[in-house]
Amino acid sequence: MHLRKRALVTGGAGFLGSFLCERLLAEGCDVICVDNFYTGTKRNIVHLLQNPYFELIRHDITFPLYLEVDEIYNLACPASPIHYQNDPVQTTKVNVHGSINMLGLAKRIRARILQASTSEVYGDPTVHPQTEAYWGNVNCIGKRSCYDEGKRCAETLFFDYHRQHKISIRVVRIFNTYGPRMHPNDGRVVSNFIIQALKNQDITVFGEGAQTRSFCFVDDLIDGLIRMMNAPDDFSGPVNIGNPNEFSILELANKVIELTGSTSNIVYLPLPEDDPLQRQPNITLAKERLGWEPKTQLEEGLARTIEYFKNHVL
Ligand code: NAD
Ligand code: UDP
Repeated sequence: MHLRKRALVTGGAGFLGSFLCERLLAEGCDVICVDNFYTGTKRNIVHLLQNPYFELIRHDITFPLYLEVDEIYNLACPASPIHYQNDPVQTTKVNVHGSINMLGLAKRIRARILQASTSEVYGDPTVHPQTEAYWGNVNCIGKRSCYDEGKRCAETLFFDYHRQHKISIRVVRIFNTYGPRMHPNDGRVVSNFIIQALKNQDITVFGEGAQTRSFCFVDDLIDGLIRMMNAPDDFSGPVNIGNPNEFSILELANKVIELTGSTSNIVYLPLPEDDPLQRQPNITLAKERLGWEPKTQLEEGLARTIEYFKNHVL
């Protein structure tokens, strides 16, 4: 009999995973973090290593894993376009083979399993804002496809394991999330702009900067993941978790310059292939079913992220 809930976090040494491990420990869970350090680092979790309720396993989830836990949070997958396009075949593998392995584990030990899916399943959306009912507009042969189609196939696998093997699943579609511990070189827009601004270097806006994103602060996102894991069994999702306040990339660049007091100039570079033009979550379902909505707005979240990059990265 286990007094503490045992949670497995795959990708636990990554940006989101490390905050999730922290929160689960704070809530009294026994936490196993599995990571192959492809994009994550020990630095993200080094402060947890002394905690007797935290265990770290170096493992690639595209290979089977045998453990006993009550819950699995499946976050393992590189998230930034630069990282997931670096080895696109591995990106598809981690989403397909990795999900099959984790679902197989959940089936064997009857654990509940949550998938960190993404707003990328909507591709370059023709419906705005995006609701969970929208099927998406995804190019299946482009450079982003390894990630987009990989995550779409993972969702299919989750729902098929649920229907076929009756396992308890949760699927969360995460929209752009930012905060401390973002990888400084992964090319994501918030970390890029903050580092460029702090170094007074040119801010690299792709295209004309008119494309939009809706940015969620990491604490809010983690709260959403935990609420979804604990949701009643008649609610498997998919559910959008993100901040519905939408900004153009140019607006973001100007906000970062203002908050850092930087002397950087904005330069315009070509827009990458298949870069979605707009993205904004409709979070009605999360509000209704999870009582969740984000609490931290962009200026406050950016200020906290800028402090982190000033003190820990530069
Ligand atoms: P991240 O790259 O910081 O973390 C991913 C972690 O997974 C890393 O620690 C990496 O080493 C690990 N990993 C990769 N391949 C693995 C493998 N084969 N076996 C074991 N570990 C492996 O990214 P993140 O931002 O923390 O994203 C976490 C999850 O959330 C990902 O699944 C991502 O697709 C999803 N997500 C993130 C965002 C976002 O804005 N951050 C948006 C949508 C979805
Ligand atoms: N972007 C940008 N300059 C950068 C990095 C990104 O203008 O230095 C743009 C990118 O083209 C995209 C948006 O910012 O339109 C978000 O990019 P990110 O890689 O953070 O995430 P995703 O495209 O997956 O939402």
